[in-house]
Amino acid sequence: MRTSLVLLSARLLDPLTGEFLPQTALAASGGRISALGDDRRIRALADPSTTVIDLRGAVVTPGLVDGHLHPVSGAELTHGLDLSGCADLDAVREALAGEVRTLAPGAWLHAWGLDPNVFGQRPVEAAALAPVLDGVPALLLLFDAHSMLASPRALELAGVDGPRTFAQAAEVVCDDAGRPTGLLLEDAACELVERAAPRPTHAERRARLAAALRDMAAAGLTGGHAMDANGDSLALYAELDAAGELPVRLRVSPWCQPGADAAALRALIEQQGTGGALWRTEGVKLFMDGTVDNGTAWLERPDCHGESTHSFWPDPEAYTHIVGELHRAGVPTATHAIGDAAVRHVLDSVERAMATGERRVRHRVEHIETVPDDTLRRFARLGVIASMQPTHCCDYTRADHTDNWSRRLGEERASRAWRCRDLWDSGARVVLGSDWPIAPFPPLGVMAGARHRRPSRDLSLPPHGPEQALTALEALQGMTVHAAYAAGEEHEAGRLAVGHRADLTVLADDPLTAAATDLPDLPVLLTVLDCRPTHRDASL
Ligand SMILES: [Zn+2]
Repeated sequence: MRTSLVLLSARLLDPLTGEFLPQTALAASGGRISALGDDRRIRALADPSTTVIDLRGAVVTPGLVDGHLHPVSGAELTHGLDLSGCADLDAVREALAGEVRTLAPGAWLHAWGLDPNVFGQRPVEAAALAPVLDGVPALLLLFDAHSMLASPRALELAGVDGPRTFAQAAEVVCDDAGRPTGLLLEDAACELVERAAPRPTHAERRARLAAALRDMAAAGLTGGHAMDANGDSLALYAELDAAGELPVRLRVSPWCQPGADAAALRALIEQQGTGGALWRTEGVKLFMDGTVDNGTAWLERPDCHGESTHSFWPDPEAYTHIVGELHRAGVPTATHAIGDAAVRHVLDSVERAMATGERRVRHRVEHIETVPDDTLRRFARLGVIASMQPTHCCDYTRADHTDNWSRRLGEERASRAWRCRDLWDSGARVVLGSDWPIAPFPPLGVMAGARHRRPSRDLSLPPHGPEQALTALEALQGMTVHAAYAAGEEHEAGRLAVGHRADLTVLADDPLTAAATDLPDLPVLLTVLDCRPTHRDASL
């Protein structure tokens, strides 16, 4: 087979050991690493059609993989005004006022990344943003992407004038007089108002998705575990893949929601393994709770507002049954579980599923924001993968526990925040991700966050729980070897070895010796997916 790609004068970093391989060059063909050797020997494998790149000492790692993201909804949700940089209400008002001036009459304002902490002790409600949004239909997505703030005009156009009841946990928050405050909690409530806004066309959505994926490749990502297949996601992936425009390899896990019947379950099982050249459907994503910030997590004891008291599944036993069925069918599950009770219930369910048979299925828990020791220790024992998003701790909580997440939980539970170190030391496999669009996707920022645990907007601020930091090597493993393991691909991904996928990330210097605070700025010189460069810096 002809050689597609040759990389010379490289430092080849093995994320398993943290050492450089003795070889300095790599050849790839047929989507795989086909040879490792010295420059002379590998150069000889090139023919006139081979892409030959002299890396001049740059560092090659296996392609970085984000363990948890939402490409399609992310591309959609991060269009419009970015409020993620606004640290107080005045900044939000100013940004909104600027956007309102650019809107055509009657047009909807879409914004994202709103941090509820900007409201301080005030309730999160649209009234705080009057008069800026008066008469403007506006939907402001909160940073957790589980809630929105709708302007009075948006509520009016959607015909939402009071409380509503939902089949799943969701709420149109109302004041004492029963009037909506603008705050919409969870998808079902948000959708009520979103339906009234004009929908982007298919072509617009496809273009936004392709652009987001190209940005991911430029940031060094070669792969991602997409944690939903909502709407026409699969059709969009298939279209981009067929057109040769899918620059990130995706493993897509569709949702299983409360109320799923036998037919829905069968459909999820039959979907497994379907896909295209660079994407496939694998695993099922479930939710055990919502978020601490919204009072929709599931905690063993209520938070300081008396909230976060129950499961996202009205009947948690129904969840346990579903996990059992999926396990028997060999389908790995990934369950969003943030509160200690939610995590415990998922582990109980997996333990029961495993007790019924011999099957080895790699289940995982997403987020694990606050858990006590006894729950934490069960991950390693049960072989359940811990999927962590360290930048959520860095950027949405504070070391002094004055943030909404910490205040709701109180000292004891806030001191158990994102226990990456303890999980790692307990023997659990920890995979790292961003949960984009909840947090930015650049993988160097995610690895840096796991190491420094400081707010990315100001790295001089103190770290939140520095004793839970990972080392540089562990952070790299969380986006390479462990990401591969979580997807059942450790035999063909996550290492620089002959026969492994030619998915590679090339950095200007060694990510293991770069200071955590400098890591996000380390230039990504080259990203290779399936032998083909998806990003190449002008300097190469
Ligand atoms: Zn997610």
